[in-house]
Amino acid sequence: MKITMLGTGAALLDPDRGHSSIAVTVGKTTYLLDCGSGASRQLVKANIDPTTVKAVFLSHLHFDHIADFPVFVIANWMADRQTAPIVVGPPGTVEFVDHLFEDGAFAIDIKARIQYPQRQKNAIVLRPDVRLMEPGLIYEDDNIRVTAGLVDHIPEEISKCFGLRLEAEGKVIAFSGDTAPCDTMLDLARDADLLIHEATFPEAAIEFRSKAGIGTFSHTSPRQLGVLAKKANVKSVVATHFGHWDSTNAIVRKLAAKHMPVEMMGPHLMDEVAADIREAYDGPIALAHDQMVIHL
Ligand SMILES: [Zn+2]
Ligand SMILES: [Zn+2]
Repeated sequence: MKITMLGTGAALLDPDRGHSSIAVTVGKTTYLLDCGSGASRQLVKANIDPTTVKAVFLSHLHFDHIADFPVFVIANWMADRQTAPIVVGPPGTVEFVDHLFEDGAFAIDIKARIQYPQRQKNAIVLRPDVRLMEPGLIYEDDNIRVTAGLVDHIPEEISKCFGLRLEAEGKVIAFSGDTAPCDTMLDLARDADLLIHEATFPEAAIEFRSKAGIGTFSHTSPRQLGVLAKKANVKSVVATHFGHWDSTNAIVRKLAAKHMPVEMMGPHLMDEVAADIREAYDGPIALAHDQMVIHL
């Protein structure tokens, strides 16, 4: 199976890191884990035909994980896809999807394009097959089996957030979505061949943020990721969802200034983050970048 990191940034705008999205390709079929802005374009860049994406799994409903979904659906419609994509997401996903297409935000666009007979024939694509995510087995087909668990990110009374465990071709991938370290993620990651886990802020930024009184509780630090990977006995780790601390772009640095001191930012932090993960975990690690491909 092939895993393509389509977007590896957190929620800020960054020319070098798209919002969260991962493509998992098994045989000729692809599955998306999250669909942050730019995901569809990145699929094409990675030579993956968007019409071969069978299902999209949304870990949670923060915009940096879902904003490309309407682009994905409408682009598939225009590409003559003939089947409705499956989307599996937390409670709230039905409302999110209902507000997008024929009766929603893109109603005028669709009304205009559907004048063409060709576009009327595959209008089914605009009516995604929405399935709700709950803890436990959430999806199974001939290629993959996906289990979800509640993780610790947004307060549950506002919205449920999920981590995932995918089994395919005798291998296991665990994906954290966004979360603080939690026992559910430990269970989902147990003995996995690959753990793809968020490491939004480096330790230095977390120290700054806790002193400045900005939230730090809803993400995992690199040190915490190393401890989790060790405890879960995973065979390899890819860290992702980086909070733009490695950027050298002047505007990104300005946008990120409220999150950490600008003078602290830069690519050198990559070495620190890797070393912090390594404090507890001695297996293979990689720090994700957009278009990184992993063969498993
Ligand atoms: Zn996020
Ligand atoms: Zn989030």
